[in-house]
Amino acid sequence: MNAFAKIGQETNRMTKQACRLLIYFFFLNLSAAETDIGGDKMFLDYDVRIKKENPDRILMTARIGPIPVNHLLLAMTQNYGRVETLSEIIPEISIYGAGRKSVEIKKNNEFLWEVDLPVSDTVCIDYAINTRHPYTSLNSVRLPYRDADHLYLPAASAFVHPDEKYLADNKIKIQRIRIHFDIPDEWTTATSWGSNRLAYELSPSSLETLNNGLIGAGCYRVHSFKVKELPVEVAILNVGPCPDEEIVRIVEQALIAGHDLFNFFPVSRVFALIQFIFDQPGRGSGNALGWSINLNYGRTFDSLDWIKETAHIFHEIFHFWNGTAISRAQSDHSLIWFTEGVTRFYQYKNMQRSGIISEEKYFQYISREYTDVFQSSRREDSLKSISGDYYADRSAMALTYSKGCCLAFALDLLLQHAFSGLKNFDSVMKKILEKYDFRVNRHCLTHDELDGVFYEILGKGLYPSYLRLRNCDFLQEFQSTLLSAGLEIEKTRGRRLYFGILDFGPPSDHLQAFKIDRESPAYQAGLREQDILLEINNWKVKDIPDVKKALQGMKENESANLIIERKNVKMRMRIPWHSFETRFNIKKIRNQSQFK
Ligand SMILES: [Zn+2]
Repeated sequence: MNAFAKIGQETNRMTKQACRLLIYFFFLNLSAAETDIGGDKMFLDYDVRIKKENPDRILMTARIGPIPVNHLLLAMTQNYGRVETLSEIIPEISIYGAGRKSVEIKKNNEFLWEVDLPVSDTVCIDYAINTRHPYTSLNSVRLPYRDADHLYLPAASAFVHPDEKYLADNKIKIQRIRIHFDIPDEWTTATSWGSNRLAYELSPSSLETLNNGLIGAGCYRVHSFKVKELPVEVAILNVGPCPDEEIVRIVEQALIAGHDLFNFFPVSRVFALIQFIFDQPGRGSGNALGWSINLNYGRTFDSLDWIKETAHIFHEIFHFWNGTAISRAQSDHSLIWFTEGVTRFYQYKNMQRSGIISEEKYFQYISREYTDVFQSSRREDSLKSISGDYYADRSAMALTYSKGCCLAFALDLLLQHAFSGLKNFDSVMKKILEKYDFRVNRHCLTHDELDGVFYEILGKGLYPSYLRLRNCDFLQEFQSTLLSAGLEIEKTRGRRLYFGILDFGPPSDHLQAFKIDRESPAYQAGLREQDILLEINNWKVKDIPDVKKALQGMKENESANLIIERKNVKMRMRIPWHSFETRFNIKKIRNQSQFK
């Protein structure tokens, strides 16, 4: 049972990671005598049944045949970190062999089940998938989700299928994958393989096509159009912050902006599933699943801020264009700054290119990112090191986006300037996609390869600038790079801050320094993020009105006496209570005519 123990360990280890949930069957042939593997072709048929009155379950039937073996393992290989046992995901399961004879399932551990089958042509697996799982704010493939009016289902999270390696080792080809829906009358389907049908035959019939798919079923409004020659379908659920036409227009603009950059990208069809359903804390999140894009927005969404949501659509669509090649780089955490930071840069740049925002507004967005870098407690850390801590440290996570974005902005300008408009950051992206497309190379982009591309594009003269931007000299290098391209950075005074605290975090029963301006006198005097404020000038404080009361009558330049709690230890501090937020404004140097 060594192999089983190993798989068990592996799956347990993966529960700690943020990656996608994938359930599949390992097929094992335990009998040495059974050398005649029953056929080199296999079919997978799925019935997906959704009952409106049962919002907690999606009922599935998988028929897999011909089954050449009599022993199966059911394992969850990847998990996004919140699921403790396989039975949380699959609360009901029964497996039938020949003659619909039900077989026993042995549960070896939380993530590994074992089944002995009578030799059979087809195996039938009836199971239920739990749809009530906590939603992750991490940008990874989610579990199925449904409410009274719709189902959303990343295909990889719900379909059981044979182990890919087993199929390859035994030269078994998948002949057919069929998905059939049994859904409430008024519902329609919106899937990566088409919309408004009850049955889909996947083409090509491969596990990759199956796992990359995205499925929606519910009262979708589907809008079809073309971007150049590319058929696009946008499926929208629920009433969003803007009319459908506006959402469709933004998706179209974002695809056009990406299309111009990656016009060699072999996409045959684009499917975007847009929902306004999730009450998760992040405002927008999405992912590129094969040829699909999924965009979710929070329920608490502020309709006045549509431009921010527009930026999210541009962000996700940029991931979509380059995702197949470079989001694989996320397996190397030290590259997250590249996948996320550069994508953030392109969300703004492509909005400007599409005419959705002005150049002035574009500079404002970048100024905000630079301000975030400057305020961050980890601003000196290299992009590699903050990327490495992406999942472990909130401020590192935020910094990978803002710092990566600023790096791309600076190099974009530098390239335009040095090569008189013949090169820009697009040259870097194109070169990476030419050289390191995952689908061709079957290996992930490494940091060395990325550096190699930068060297090729920037040349000997400019490459050191990239190195300084990605290492510890970021702040100084950013300023001088911009200056050499005709832009200056103006420091301005933002809102008044108590103890330099920019953000007191989500409401709770204590007052916490969630985010502190790195430049503030309080930071310099020793106050740190995560510190809990207990007392100010002998007043107990629990919320912001308490803080105001405690500070009443104090002069601007005076210091206050604080009792704080840090890692369960109480500490006394005397620190300036008052400061103004450090902000920056990027703008063109006046009388600089050569800069376009
Ligand atoms: Zn992203």
